[in-house]
Amino acid sequence: MRGAVLHGPRDIRFEERPDPEIQAPTDAIIRIVAACVCGSDLWPYRGINKINGPMPMGHEYLGVVERVGDEVTSVRPGQYVIGSFVASDNTCPHCLAGFQTACVHREPVSGAQADFLRVPLADGTLVATPGEPTPEMIPSLLTLSDVMGTGWFAAVAARVEPGMTVLVVGDGAVGLHGVLAANQKGAARIITMSRHEPRQKQAIEYGATDVITERGDDGVAKVRELTDGVGADAVLECVGTAESMQQAIKSARAGAHVGFVGVPHDVHIDGIQLFRTHVAVHGGPAPVRQYLPELIDLVWKGEINPGRVFDLTLPLDQAAEGYRAMDERRAIKSLLLP
Ligand SMILES: [Zn+2]
Repeated sequence: MRGAVLHGPRDIRFEERPDPEIQAPTDAIIRIVAACVCGSDLWPYRGINKINGPMPMGHEYLGVVERVGDEVTSVRPGQYVIGSFVASDNTCPHCLAGFQTACVHREPVSGAQADFLRVPLADGTLVATPGEPTPEMIPSLLTLSDVMGTGWFAAVAARVEPGMTVLVVGDGAVGLHGVLAANQKGAARIITMSRHEPRQKQAIEYGATDVITERGDDGVAKVRELTDGVGADAVLECVGTAESMQQAIKSARAGAHVGFVGVPHDVHIDGIQLFRTHVAVHGGPAPVRQYLPELIDLVWKGEINPGRVFDLTLPLDQAAEGYRAMDERRAIKSLLLP
């Protein structure tokens, strides 16, 4: 088979790779129907995260089950399935508490930008769709594998409730899905921080009511101005920089939760800042497995269309261009189809 492999900074090659095999009786092999490039793939792509040798890329996937190991009972060949970027047994105490990305048997899933993929712990990791999806549904279903599930977790971690004023920091695909999640959870007002017109438009389409273009302390002042000096009832931090985290914490009202899903890079939080502000901070790798049944249902009924964040569609063998377009900010998110 063929797949995308990162060989060094900005060096993605679509090349021959060994066909994945069943390695454990709990594995499944799926044929990829759709994959995509994640914002987090850009960290190693840009050379910011070091790699140890050639690295098969991709952890977001929608596929059809080809074959399963002897112990797999919950999915069968021919089914369309979606799974998380972290394989989990879905039975351990952390999984049962809803944190499948902290599973005691967790394994990263990687190499999804390819013709085929091995998914470990298939019973715990994969969820089948109700049937064969229409071509229009495929991009939206794919987003549930990571990006939409991550935006959803940001809203859960921020404890968004009906009627709240919600601030979303970050206008990438995760931030846009954070807006969609907050809207779905009944937020009365959703403020997005964005300077890019196409992203502002998409945020408004997903339910944003206010757009702030200022950053740093000016951005915080603007949030205060829009909320009668109080601050946001819930904040979704979807970037992962020191500046974005400070914007999130400083824009939150007393007692608010900041849900953070941007992978932190050089983020340091001062204890006394949290102590004085009564702001709670909760985040981590999103347990997207927990939300798959609910979100598949919403996509299937046509109630949400998270697939609209894809503004570039390429054949899988042009994965390198998908990376370049996102790196150069010509695309929000690249969809890859075999
Ligand atoms: Zn587990």
